[in-house]
Amino acid sequence: MIKLLALVASKINLLRNEILQIFSALQTGMSLEEQSQRVFGTVRAAFRSEKTLDIRFRKQQLLALERFLRDESQMLLDALHADLHKCTFEGDAAEIFLVQAEIAYHLNNIDSWVAPKAAGDKGVAFAFDTCLLHPQPLGVALIIGAWNYPIHLVLMPLVGAISAGCCAILKPSEVSSRSAAALQALDNYLDSECYRVVNGAADVATALLQQPFDHIFYTGGNEVGKIVMEAAAKHLTPVTLEMGGKSPCVVDGNSDLDVVARRILYGKFSNAGQICVSPDYVLCEKPVQSLLVDALQKAYKQFFKTDPKQSSDYCRIINRRHFDRVRKLIDPAKVKIGGEVDESELYIALTVMTDVGPDDPAMKEEIFGPVLPIVTVRDKEEAIEIINSRENPLVIYVFSSDKSFVDKVQRKTSSGTLIVNDTLSFILVPNLPFGGVGNSGTGRYHGYATFTTFSNMRTVMKRSLALEFLNKARYPPYTIQNLAWMKWAMQLKRTGILRLFSFLVIFLAIATIAILRFFGRLS
Ligand code: NAD
Repeated sequence: MIKLLALVASKINLLRNEILQIFSALQTGMSLEEQSQRVFGTVRAAFRSEKTLDIRFRKQQLLALERFLRDESQMLLDALHADLHKCTFEGDAAEIFLVQAEIAYHLNNIDSWVAPKAAGDKGVAFAFDTCLLHPQPLGVALIIGAWNYPIHLVLMPLVGAISAGCCAILKPSEVSSRSAAALQALDNYLDSECYRVVNGAADVATALLQQPFDHIFYTGGNEVGKIVMEAAAKHLTPVTLEMGGKSPCVVDGNSDLDVVARRILYGKFSNAGQICVSPDYVLCEKPVQSLLVDALQKAYKQFFKTDPKQSSDYCRIINRRHFDRVRKLIDPAKVKIGGEVDESELYIALTVMTDVGPDDPAMKEEIFGPVLPIVTVRDKEEAIEIINSRENPLVIYVFSSDKSFVDKVQRKTSSGTLIVNDTLSFILVPNLPFGGVGNSGTGRYHGYATFTTFSNMRTVMKRSLALEFLNKARYPPYTIQNLAWMKWAMQLKRTGILRLFSFLVIFLAIATIAILRFFGRLS
């Protein structure tokens, strides 16, 4: 009865959002495009007012975001539970605490991040010039979130947008409707001219994408990723695309399989496998498979003493569409652990399948659910071949104590991230940039990378109008001697003593000429 009421409430909420949208459109008599244009115009005007250039303003907004997370934590946790049956532990750790940690990291570092940085090696020719990288906010950003971590996926990039001095429009996923509605309360905390939450479905995202944003930060599937990139191309807007794919998990028989099983199961169990970085499938040699299944069974019993369905820690599938999609990936003949489903609760047990072929349905698409197929390989080389025959994944997990094999995987494969002997935990390291490559995404964030994502790392060079005689070599009439002199003065490749010597020679030459000219003018 309670579940039914929760389902009805969530449907009403979804309807409420849609009705509000239609109502506001009717009330204003404006189309979605016109409304998007208006919101964009307001936020752009706020950006142009230069209030986000003030570092104190940025810090205030970061603190206001922190206050939102603290004051509204229960509302957020309730919304996450209503959307995904997400328990307090996972909701608090992944959606609230991680964002708070990101805020703290940005507050601790913002002063040094916004400071201009010396560009480094300039060559002797420019030794007296100022060459800098000066971070400048890109402008107005659009942040489009996905449903699996509905709070985290819009607020983590927002932290970087704020610290970089951007304004932002947030478009949370309509699929996680309760969390999207909860995020609307941000309007009570943040400067509502600079930061706006706009709720709605694909039509709202489409209307927003027509605006000339200065950056688009998108999280979601590849197909929509292509739509976003196409829309961005119309305005030559830079994009960050955080997408997914099938992240493989290679298990070498030389590892402690009890530990390996616990770590894999943890990665697959969290959020019921609805994580972009969840281990999607396992690759191991045939003799390792049965040992691994035994170890997985042991871990399974440790995690859920009885039935995982009764565990308050276990999430549900987000909606009927995804439930049907994931259920179809289970081949009952190959199930070794789990396999139970309950449509009325959108429940799918943590399921392990063995001897899955590369052409089985579970290997055709990203699983994004609690199903773990094991594919056996001839040898470890074949595991690398299988990985390389597919699109670049977001993550490759390798469980092995064989350093030469780990090195080989690192050398021969490509992915957004490579993790050895664990799953998921890398997300907790604030300064490990997170993102994909090729099909799994473009661009990175977390920590300093989020700041640079929303910044134009502007090149600034400041020269003096004095010492013009030093520039004569570059002007016509060109001579071979001048060319040789310029090449020598601009060389960056010399190292050690030779480089120091060159620098000293040119420094002394310039100083001597300058002094002679100075006294020449005086006399
Ligand atoms: P989704 O359905 O929530 O869609 C993502 C966003 O795109 C939503 O805000 C939605 O409104 C918007 N959208 C949908 N159709 C659109 C359209 N035609 N035009 C413009 N916008 C549109 O999420 P999803 O796509 O089901 O997300 C799951 C995928 O996201 C998986 O592939 C997963 O791996 C990936 N993902 C990646 C990360 C990451 O950080 N790399 C994190 C979470 C999820």
